[in-house]
Amino acid sequence: MAEHIPEPLHKKLSERLHFYEDLGFRLFYKDRGASAVRTPLTSASNSFAPSVSQISHEDAALPKSIQKPELPKPTQPSVRAVPPRSAPLQTLAKPDMLRVPAGPSLFEAFDKVPGDTLLKIRTDLGECTRCKIHKTRNSIVFGDGNPKAELVFVGEGPGHDEDMQGLPFVGRAGKLLTQMIEAMGLQRRDVYICNVVKCRPPENRLPEKDEVTTCSPYLLRQLDAINPKVIVCLGACAAQTLLETNRGISNFRGQWLEFRGKKLMATYHPAYLLRNPSAKGEVWKDLQKVMAVLGLEAKKGKSAEAGKSS
Ligand code: URA
Repeated sequence: MAEHIPEPLHKKLSERLHFYEDLGFRLFYKDRGASAVRTPLTSASNSFAPSVSQISHEDAALPKSIQKPELPKPTQPSVRAVPPRSAPLQTLAKPDMLRVPAGPSLFEAFDKVPGDTLLKIRTDLGECTRCKIHKTRNSIVFGDGNPKAELVFVGEGPGHDEDMQGLPFVGRAGKLLTQMIEAMGLQRRDVYICNVVKCRPPENRLPEKDEVTTCSPYLLRQLDAINPKVIVCLGACAAQTLLETNRGISNFRGQWLEFRGKKLMATYHPAYLLRNPSAKGEVWKDLQKVMAVLGLEAKKGKSAEAGKSS
């Protein structure tokens, strides 16, 4: 029986549902296609760092929050198709076990766009309507942070808060990511943060294959333009997309892998950590490997806290 819900109660209920979504509960009435990293909630405690300072630093060349910008009409992705590189880098492993046996490579046919910048990529993306999730988005969440970062974090796709603010990782999982970054002795403005898909999939479902295929050339260009030393994939979607594998993330999490000449580390998504705080220790170990490569020292008092398993 449909009853009228008073406005204040409606608002409260809506906020509470978004809160549950941020915690990792997907729709209450529909299977959202659980992945390896979408496991049941155990606790939402947070031990990465005691204080949360939410910093939203946009690429200096870009507007602070890009919401429905007046940009050119979309064209096809301007990533040039060229023959695959003949001499793959040997320094780091892309284990055979990760490869998806059949189908064309998403990335190998794409060469660097000469003189590419984040601004050019954002301009090419335009007011994108290339895949179906544009219909339900509020804003395109392009990315945020230092355009010359040595460290890039790649997530899955914007959630409700990100869609509203036009910035990546600003909800509950984002606050935990901020704490992880700070525990590494960095600030959000030191790194770059982006996602595989730039629009929020409806009801926070996983991005679908066609959406990933359509959007990922822009991620590839972002990574090429920033040219970081290290890419950290947050969760299975980012890792499986860049590594072009359908293997579960726990098979290769914490190992140094390679993506177009850059070191790649896959670790668990902060939303997973909100549901499984005991996995924080493993993630902290992964981040410590990243810190060693980047010559970073843990922020005093935060590393011990961050390494706690619950
Ligand atoms: N989860 C993601 O994967 N990306 C965001 O930007 C926010 C939450």
